[in-house]
Amino acid sequence: PTMTTAEIRSAYLNFFESKGCKLYPSSSLVPDDPSLLLANAGMNQFKEFYQGKKVMKEIGACSCQKCVRTNDIDIIGADGRHASFFEMLGNFAFGGVTKGQACAWAYELITEVFKLPKDRLYFTVFTEDDETEAVWRSLGVEPDHITRLGEDDNFWAAGPTGPCGPCSEIYFDLGEEVGCGCDTCAPGCDCDRFLEFWNLVFTQFDRQEDGSMPELPHRNLDTGMGLERMAAIMQHKSSFFDGDVMQSLIKLGEDISGKTYVDDDYTGASRSLRIIADHARSVNFLISDGVLPGNEGRGYVLRRLLRRAVFHGRLLGIEDAFLGRFIDAVNDVMGDAYPSLLENVGLVKGIVEAEEERFSTTLNNGRVYLDEQLSALAEGEQLPGSAAFMLHDTFGFPIDLTVEIAEGAGHAVDIEGFNAEMAEQKARARAAAKGDAWGSFNDVWTELADQLPATEFVGYDNESIEGAHV
Ligand code: ATP
Ligand code: MG
Ligand code: MG
Ligand code: MG
Repeated sequence: PTMTTAEIRSAYLNFFESKGCKLYPSSSLVPDDPSLLLANAGMNQFKEFYQGKKVMKEIGACSCQKCVRTNDIDIIGADGRHASFFEMLGNFAFGGVTKGQACAWAYELITEVFKLPKDRLYFTVFTEDDETEAVWRSLGVEPDHITRLGEDDNFWAAGPTGPCGPCSEIYFDLGEEVGCGCDTCAPGCDCDRFLEFWNLVFTQFDRQEDGSMPELPHRNLDTGMGLERMAAIMQHKSSFFDGDVMQSLIKLGEDISGKTYVDDDYTGASRSLRIIADHARSVNFLISDGVLPGNEGRGYVLRRLLRRAVFHGRLLGIEDAFLGRFIDAVNDVMGDAYPSLLENVGLVKGIVEAEEERFSTTLNNGRVYLDEQLSALAEGEQLPGSAAFMLHDTFGFPIDLTVEIAEGAGHAVDIEGFNAEMAEQKARARAAAKGDAWGSFNDVWTELADQLPATEFVGYDNESIEGAHV
């Protein structure tokens, strides 16, 4: 059957509630955890339960978590499975739920609720994890649908320190037509045939700053299912950009730019249309959760995404400000599930429009400067770090944007030279900041941002949300 994104979200959460898991609202994208820049997984808000600092009386928890990931940024728009903002459905347990139970729940949900055909399902387990392989087999999974993978794929950690452990991932076979055709094609292959949609992590260790990995107090469970990916599967699409939520954003980009989107073209205009649609969601959710454009940390992530969207608009030939219209379009498709987007729309659009205008002006000037610099280089010569710094400092070009344009013209950028100039500038700024009125002005804004409440997820039809309190 086909299901909408909203239906999948509630089916998942209702399923785990029926198993006794307590429903938690998404936490803010700005985590209550200094070791983490932005929420990147459902487990983030449960860290202290894993560490045994907090105890949950229910058998486990479930949630639909807003996530932002920047590690995938280069691939966004060039494939149909990675987003910078996405929703992660998850269920969690802190001792008391065995691997056998966890896998049985997962298998029941995907085969009986989502009714995915069993011959299309594939499972990976960590190289050393015989136990999980035995569990999948006992549930009826054929041995040739199980692959062993190493640490890169099947050992999961939210960040450099904290809870982590071996995992088992579930993949959907999108069909031979989208694959590479090799004889050994299986999950883990570089091609697009197998789509990873759910990761079951058996969180067992607590990685320390020094790299040691003591056992956590319990054997835990942490799972994450990409909502966008499950929606693509349920809607028979090979890309989530072609599913119910993203297609209206793609369409808006087409309308504004006059360019045509081609669903199996992952380059050029189609890629730019995807990047804008994707980045618009991140920008909206980040600002709504209190992040403001800046040159460091979260503010920089936001600024980079926002400017990159504007830049791709230019590549599509859009000369006028356009991002505000995308904010409205995101709200049209996501406002039901996240009403705080609607509450914050004035704030968000004000910030987006101001940043876009500022960037447009500098983009025009900076582009002239960069093109001059690039055309003066010999073939294969690097763009000097000083030019990249000039673009950053005077024209507001994020370094990634400079790299992207330079690479498009066949030149690398001297990143080390750029970093050295950045470090010098920071030292100068620190010396000058003492007694500067602008310093306190900025603090007011930062504090204001910190006070904005977390966006609460209310997009399911369920009474117990009243009791769901983080
Ligand atoms: P991939 O290998 O495809 O990059 P991952 O292994 O990094 O995914 P996990 O960290 O295991 O992803 O996250 C759990 C689930 O969240 C994934 O199985 C996937 O469904 C979803 N997910 C992860 N990253 C993204 C992303 N950038 N965009 C959309 N969904 C994602
Ligand atoms: Mg990834
Ligand atoms: Mg993976
Ligand atoms: Mg994974």
